[in-house]
Amino acid sequence: MINNKKAYLKEMGIDLWQSKSKTTVAATANIDSQVAANWPELEKQVATCTLCALHRTRTKPVFGVGSKNAKVMFVGEAPGANEDLQGEPFVGRAGMLLNSMVQSIELKRCDVYIANILKCRPPNNRDPEPQEVKLCTPYLQQQIALIQPKVLVAVGRIAAQFLLDTTESMSHLRGRTYQYGPQNTPLLVTYHPAYLLRSPSEKRKAYADFLLIKKMIAEVV
Ligand code: URA
Repeated sequence: MINNKKAYLKEMGIDLWQSKSKTTVAATANIDSQVAANWPELEKQVATCTLCALHRTRTKPVFGVGSKNAKVMFVGEAPGANEDLQGEPFVGRAGMLLNSMVQSIELKRCDVYIANILKCRPPNNRDPEPQEVKLCTPYLQQQIALIQPKVLVAVGRIAAQFLLDTTESMSHLRGRTYQYGPQNTPLLVTYHPAYLLRSPSEKRKAYADFLLIKKMIAEVV
């Protein structure tokens, strides 16, 4: 296991880590009453969703993947080109790096749950529009409510700003613990792996985030 972990860290380009202080901020979530209350119905609703224009350009909606009993749930921004083709979140190069980061804290992709704010790909990977987010997030909120993760992780600035209802920068948001929704679920923020692919020197900070995630899991389980 130790050697495996080293290999994942090597993959991530990391050999050291740093700890961060802890602060708490509350965020809230109300689930839309139109959203299905169980997994099969929710999946069907997403598969047939036409609430926003993104359904016209999607290949496949990207519902989410992983364990429905996951202790940790990762929330990204929106599907990219690979995800749109395969119908699964984080399957491109960024997804491979996310898998390595998950493995660096001795978890597997299948142990966690991964979803996005938007279930359909915005054309040319543009940022989600406020109306798309508004229409799509009840699905995510229901996924969170069904899974009841012990720790939520916002992957990247867009997910973090949405989940925490803030416009703060990543440098302000990372390294702290927040609470999300009616269950006050602990929430942490980490860099988007696509950003880490562009800025590999930041991987070390991302590893520090993952160590904090690991610590949070140990504390709440
Ligand atoms: N980026 C995201 O935020 N989500 C994905 O599923 C893929 C890339």
